[in-house]
Amino acid sequence: MTVFRCAAAWIDNAVSGPVDIVTDHGVITAIGPPDTTGDDQPESLPGLVFPGFADAHSHVFHRALRGRTHGADAQAGSFWTWRETMYALAGRLDPDSLHALALATYTELLCAGYTAVGEFHYLHHRPDGGRYDDPNAMGLAVTDAGAEAGIDVTLLDVAYLSSGFGKPTVGVQQRFSDGSIDAWADRVAALPSALRTGVAVHSVRAVPESALGSVAAAADGRVLHVHLSEQAAENEACLAATGRTPAALLHGAGVLGPRTSAVHATHLTAGDLGLLAGTGTTAVICPTTEADLADGLPSIAAMVDAGIRLACGGDQQVIVDPFAQARGIEYGERSATGRRGTMLPAALVGAATVNSHRSIGSPGGSIEIGAPADLVAVRTDSARTAGADPDQLVMVAAAADVAVVVRAGEVVATNGIHRRFGDPGEMLGASIARAWR
Ligand SMILES: [Zn+2]
Repeated sequence: MTVFRCAAAWIDNAVSGPVDIVTDHGVITAIGPPDTTGDDQPESLPGLVFPGFADAHSHVFHRALRGRTHGADAQAGSFWTWRETMYALAGRLDPDSLHALALATYTELLCAGYTAVGEFHYLHHRPDGGRYDDPNAMGLAVTDAGAEAGIDVTLLDVAYLSSGFGKPTVGVQQRFSDGSIDAWADRVAALPSALRTGVAVHSVRAVPESALGSVAAAADGRVLHVHLSEQAAENEACLAATGRTPAALLHGAGVLGPRTSAVHATHLTAGDLGLLAGTGTTAVICPTTEADLADGLPSIAAMVDAGIRLACGGDQQVIVDPFAQARGIEYGERSATGRRGTMLPAALVGAATVNSHRSIGSPGGSIEIGAPADLVAVRTDSARTAGADPDQLVMVAAAADVAVVVRAGEVVATNGIHRRFGDPGEMLGASIARAWR
């Protein structure tokens, strides 16, 4: 049993405290006023203690692209030219180099306050499309890395069968494809049952309409993720090929629902919003990646008005910072509309914690009895946070303000230093250099 003494903690989506949080076997067993009469030596957590954050949408290998895609050459053109650089990276990785990169990146995420991540995994096969001896070698490289870093990974195994409507996969996309939806389902079924897994449709571009229902069936009660309308060009191609929007196509195949998350949801019609709201589908907003890739801005006010649950994703890991992701939702809306306060700070924290955990099937995201003992203590006396109203800390804090990360009742990172692997910068540098070799 461990007692964490908090001057302040985020409980029931508000600041309260001082409070003792008692944990046993990785679970919160009691919450109450500080008990100064007992013999137990409490572990003091500084600042404001949040529940662990979740990154609901990660492409972990994209971390090797950070700071390398902004040149004045073709990389700078659009999402589609950026994708060429991403494909060049995707073509180089093998299970060992992917494992090293994922281990470093998940270590960075954990030190930043993320205790769970949904890995949208589509880098399945050899560069020529052939199978590894274990057809799930790449996925297991990712989940092994998560276990070593101490972050809770939901492996969202992605179906990817075509490069566009009626077009076969080409080039590096062969790595992503199982060739048929049945082969994809067989491989997914062979994943170890001890892992927490979900399934995913890469996008309506990459999974034919006739195969969408098979992915929904394979979910079998697990979470299902799908990239939805990230680019206007996807909507145009979908309308031209099927006469329907991507959201309508997915809905017709039974893909939308309360365990489904639509990632990005940037270019939605009023009808699309109604489909997401009516089915209880979550929208995962990835503000820093969407800005980086010039995706455009989703209508947050329309989603909030429709009652759509919002979660947060880091996506290409261009910035690993749960606070920047959360407030990025509100800042994008302010820039687009000239209005402030569509998402108040408590709603942003809810999106980054409980909603993001729920999106990936994780039980975390709240400080309550019975919840995982995952705690993130954030400094309130740093150059960024000093003087801020604690209720509004999400609007000013940065990953660098994360003082202590507790996972399953144990301190796993302190002031950006991982208990086992130290400063993530060194392992990131080495693994990124290796990835590009
Ligand atoms: Zn993505």
